[in-house]
Amino acid sequence: MKAEIIAVGSELLTPDRVDTNSLFLTAQLNRLGIEVTRKTVVGDDLGPLRAAFDDAVKRVELVIASGGLGPTEDDRTRDAVADLFGRKLARDPAVMSKIEARFRQLGRTMSEVNARQALVPEGATVLDNDRGTAPGLWMESGGRIVILLPGPPHELKAMYAAQAEPRLARIATGVRLVARELRVAGMGESDVDQRIAPIYTRHEDVQTTILTAPGEIQIHLRAWSADTPAAERQLQDIQESIVLALGEAVFTTKGESMEDVVARELTLHHATIATAESCTGGLLAERLTRISGSSAYFLGGVVCYSNALKSAWVDVPAEIIESRGAVSAEVAIALADGIRRRTGATLGLGITGIAGPNGGTPEKPVGTVHVAIADASGSKERMVRYPGERDRIRWQASQTALDLVRRYYLYAAQPKSVG
Ligand code: ATP
Ligand code: MG
Repeated sequence: MKAEIIAVGSELLTPDRVDTNSLFLTAQLNRLGIEVTRKTVVGDDLGPLRAAFDDAVKRVELVIASGGLGPTEDDRTRDAVADLFGRKLARDPAVMSKIEARFRQLGRTMSEVNARQALVPEGATVLDNDRGTAPGLWMESGGRIVILLPGPPHELKAMYAAQAEPRLARIATGVRLVARELRVAGMGESDVDQRIAPIYTRHEDVQTTILTAPGEIQIHLRAWSADTPAAERQLQDIQESIVLALGEAVFTTKGESMEDVVARELTLHHATIATAESCTGGLLAERLTRISGSSAYFLGGVVCYSNALKSAWVDVPAEIIESRGAVSAEVAIALADGIRRRTGATLGLGITGIAGPNGGTPEKPVGTVHVAIADASGSKERMVRYPGERDRIRWQASQTALDLVRRYYLYAAQPKSVG
């Protein structure tokens, strides 16, 4: 079954508010095997509203709208749909008494405008609202289903779960969505696409989407199928081919973040880590501690921005800073090794670079970053040059540092299984 979502509200057409209800609804519908093929955002004007519903019901069997069910003049959704389907609106006594009861319970007097919410199109099923006054509506016409839900997210979620989902579950067919998400670090989007296009273009029934995010490329594979095991096998095949094509650049096949992957490796190896950061200002430590349970492996970190503190806190020799410059391979290694020695961690990470927009030179332009990892037996350093703005450069630097940890364990002997 295919569906469209209509987000109603003039505020959603301003820079101040964004439609989030459709994200919730899409996730819920996907779970039932219902694919969302289009979303529309429309203001509170009767004409465009009616047209939006008219267009949608011509394309798909299911249309879900949010918003515009309230009591005020600008809440026009039910008028638009009643008009489109040629249904009269009549005051529903049961809805009316529920609204009255709600006002009594809150100790407020009901105004005449609230009675508008008791207007129900002929033949519509009322969906009770436990969290507010505006009831939802379920209408069927010419083989199409139209569901109207209230705009406030907490009302919409409660109503969807209690009343729309059970009804939809009975109607939805056995088709299910099977999905995978692979993530890749250290490779550009066009490079990724060039290598994997020959794989995914062979599978027309699998939707492949390549998204870029700071420091990584995400590959989403989605298949709609009534035969879930067969679809799982097909995605597994595609996944294995992609991993072969991209090699160790793939850091997860389960949609995990880089810090998730690093946390797992450190835990598995009973290792500890400490950080010495300059241009990332603590971002690396922040990402390592996002994971609950990070105290098992993260000992701590320092932000040593000035040259003096690089020497005072993690023993970077002043003459290296003098001869090579603060942004250099040697300083990155000294940061990583210095913090490792100071804390006694298994691994030390060091980052030094120029996040910009100022401070670049012809030899070391903005975006030049050195990251290093050190253990008791040595170190590994990588220089990268990222394009873009300060925030992006800082994020990518932290990503590269985390990726060094992940790659460090790619070749390490896997410990015997624990527990
Ligand atoms: P009410 O009885 O509150 O008027 P309503 O069904 O008429 O309910 P709206 O007036 O359209 O709903 O929206 C009420 C509030 O709900 C908006 O101010 C906004 O904060 C939130 N809202 C509406 N639509 C969305 C949406 N698509 N995504 C996220 N929030 C929304
Ligand atoms: Mg409203």
